[in-house]
Amino acid sequence: MTHSAAPIVPTGSRSAFLAEALDLLGERGLTTDPERMDAWLTDWRGRYTGRALALASPASTAQVAALLRLCAAHGVPVVPQGGNSGMAGGATPDASGDAIILSLRRMDAIRSLSSEAGQVVCEAGVILQSLHEAADRAGMRFPLTLGGKGSATIGGLIATNAGGTQVLRHGTMRAQVLGLEAVLADGSVLDLMTPLKKDNRGFDLKQLLIGSEGTLGIVTAGCLRLLPAPVGRVTAWVGLGGIVEARTLQRRMERAMGDALEGFEVVPAHCLASVLAHQPAARAPLAGPHAWHALVECVSSAQDTAALRDTLEAALADALGEELIADAVIAANDTQAEAFWALRDGISAAERALGPAMQHDISVPVEKMPEFILAAVPDVESAFPGTRAVAFGHLGDGNVHFHVLAPEGAVRGVWEEAEGKAVSARVYDLVTRWGGSISAEHGIGQMKVDELARLHDPAALAVMRAVKRALDPAGLLNPGKLLA
Ligand SMILES: Cc1cc2nc3c(=O)[nH]c(=O)nc-3n(C[C@H](O)[C@H](O)[C@H](O)COP(=O)(O)OP(=O)(O)OC[C@H]3O[C@@H](n4cnc5c(N)ncnc54)[C@H](O)[C@@H]3O)c2cc1C
Repeated sequence: MTHSAAPIVPTGSRSAFLAEALDLLGERGLTTDPERMDAWLTDWRGRYTGRALALASPASTAQVAALLRLCAAHGVPVVPQGGNSGMAGGATPDASGDAIILSLRRMDAIRSLSSEAGQVVCEAGVILQSLHEAADRAGMRFPLTLGGKGSATIGGLIATNAGGTQVLRHGTMRAQVLGLEAVLADGSVLDLMTPLKKDNRGFDLKQLLIGSEGTLGIVTAGCLRLLPAPVGRVTAWVGLGGIVEARTLQRRMERAMGDALEGFEVVPAHCLASVLAHQPAARAPLAGPHAWHALVECVSSAQDTAALRDTLEAALADALGEELIADAVIAANDTQAEAFWALRDGISAAERALGPAMQHDISVPVEKMPEFILAAVPDVESAFPGTRAVAFGHLGDGNVHFHVLAPEGAVRGVWEEAEGKAVSARVYDLVTRWGGSISAEHGIGQMKVDELARLHDPAALAVMRAVKRALDPAGLLNPGKLLA
């Protein structure tokens, strides 16, 4: 949904607010210039465009706190924003032009990093890629990564409880956050930074903030866990006859590789063909055509690459001998491994180039995923003739991206609003019937607010709304997101 971006002309209390905010943040920290704001008013997928009263970029937690006190006093809504790489429109303001965007990007300091403690303290605006590089320099590693790592910030990753391609072994962002600092709607600073292994002083408030999508507080910093840098890494591309075989292979890999199994992604033939058509320099890793492919990655800080390769080779040879898999190749080096990952990471962009589509980031219990895919693909395709449904991604986490491509000739921007909405409702009904979630890792944002209200457990929604009222009684933090 798009809105026209006419400049906002502030009056009365809004003018007074802007003058006080400018006093607080200075010209570097506050702008109402439409050109400087423009890039931040549309989400990454280009599905939502809003308007904003101003773009505020505080430089410290103290400035965030003072700004929120000012917003509370003047009743100004706040839309927190990190790298704006979110997939659910959560960081995009609405069309009213009433809200400010609160960008955390200027707060990009790594306050401390200790390889001894295995901890790093980052401000909210630190970009994931920068954290990886800092950890690497210290002989350590931050065990979460995703395709948007060049833009996604620590604050955004915490606020969306991001997942990515290493969740199978290391968990989502929830598992990485040892402590956090946040500013609440009234401007008070919640200091939950002390990383204690055991702490039973009642509610775990940091977990309440993680995944709250900017609706309960502004994350200003996080204390995150680091692991020793790996000494071994091995990556394989496997050709398979079906998704059931892929799940069986995953269980085999878990047993053969133990803790080293870090990623298990699935790619159907249609997705690989789209990527190869979209990236002319890319090559299929295997010679023959296969209905499904699995990308397997094993990483260890105890075993070196040669040892990992031997174990993986033996496990794949067994699977080949038993005809569980049709073919497999192990990357000869890091460059080839990266080329395999580029095929996996290129799917979203390649599918987008094919025309309009509805994307669904869904999960069901891991063991039911093959059965779900086998039932849901024909169900959707027969209910909406001409559409094509594809499922790819994090099979090992029971999470796939279920994309439904529009029939040939459908008009982008029109089909999504008409038949596309009915397609999504059908997918989410199916997922709910299978005991799954309509948002596995991207969050609810503004994209799924109505579907969450329609399908989530009413008692759970009532608790979420009560928490929201308690922490943000005036409803100023990210209005219209997550909860209707
Ligand atoms: C190519 C690509 C691949 C991706 N792959 C994955 C993937 O595999 N797994 C996955 O989970 N995600 C993935 N994403 C989505 C995205 O990167 C994550 O959702 C990420 O966490 C968003 O971070 P951000 O800093 O860009 O947040 P934004 O997009 O700026 O904001 C996201 C949400 O968090 C809120 N927010 C942002 N910062 C703060 C803060 N400091 N305090 C409070 N609230 C805040 C916003 O209001 C919004 O609701 C991908 C994105 C891209 C572009």
